[in-house]
Amino acid sequence: MKITMAHGSGGKSSEELMEQVFGRHFANPILDKMEDAAVLEVSGRIAFSTDTFVVNPLEFKGGNIGKLAICGTVNDLLMMGAQPKYLTCGFVLEEGLEVELLERVVATMADYARQAGVLIVAGDTKVVEGQGGLFINTSGIGIIEEGIHISASNCRPGDAILLSGTLGDHHGAILSARMGMENGIHSDCALLSDMTEALRKEGISVRTMRDVTRGGLGTILNEIAGKSRCQFEIEETAIPMKEEVAAFCDILGLEPLYMANEGKMVLFLPEEEAEKALAILRDTKNGKEAAIIGRVREGSGVRMITRLGGSRLIDVLYGEGLPRIC
Ligand code: MG
Repeated sequence: MKITMAHGSGGKSSEELMEQVFGRHFANPILDKMEDAAVLEVSGRIAFSTDTFVVNPLEFKGGNIGKLAICGTVNDLLMMGAQPKYLTCGFVLEEGLEVELLERVVATMADYARQAGVLIVAGDTKVVEGQGGLFINTSGIGIIEEGIHISASNCRPGDAILLSGTLGDHHGAILSARMGMENGIHSDCALLSDMTEALRKEGISVRTMRDVTRGGLGTILNEIAGKSRCQFEIEETAIPMKEEVAAFCDILGLEPLYMANEGKMVLFLPEEEAEKALAILRDTKNGKEAAIIGRVREGSGVRMITRLGGSRLIDVLYGEGLPRIC
């Protein structure tokens, strides 16, 4: 069965789609009330984030647009030191979308929401003319415990820079799918909560955390360096990469520093806690290949010590990059 304009009419077909797809997978006591707005009990400081997902193809090795939509917003909340609690989901369905595909996406979203410990408390669906596409917006609220102040402006000279795993996997998987290339590259799309939770439990004082998504590590480091008014020095040989992704980048002339990931984060913390934090990360499911990749210095910009021992200025990503990657 395919989505038709009738599914967006607000009539019988809309109701069936709501019940059979969204209601069935997302059910919880807050959503089930189906009122004009969800009513939530929260107190203290909250983190509030929104993101829209337009990835093409909708399904790829290692995930689908629904997994991205949940992990993306949950990870953004986690990066502020928040405990994600509630999400909303807005769906734009193009006419001709296979209902089976939509259901796979929705089931994945329900699964990852459960894993992240968040409730989907409000949603919306619109149907538009098109060619079977699907776009998803997720917004999320997380609660920030007292005493936690994580911000991109907190880095200080002397801090260590840690990366939670290999670069380029998501970008490589999407690009391979678009080009019809058969290889073993899987998207790294994942919840970062195992790592943030482990660090929190051990009382590691993280100053800054950022998920390494669009723009890649190079762009994100530049943003944080600018906000903290510091210089970052990273070492090329310390940056973890899967052999297959490195080979893929070589063949296509891609710069891994600007490739998007969906399950990696960069962290800044006091030098004396770096080794302990590294051991904690490596003990988690998603942090096995974590590494200390550099340090914070006085100054500005981002420099990389290259494989050959030289020093190269790393700028932000200019131009397009790959569109519709997330
Ligand atoms: Mg982010």
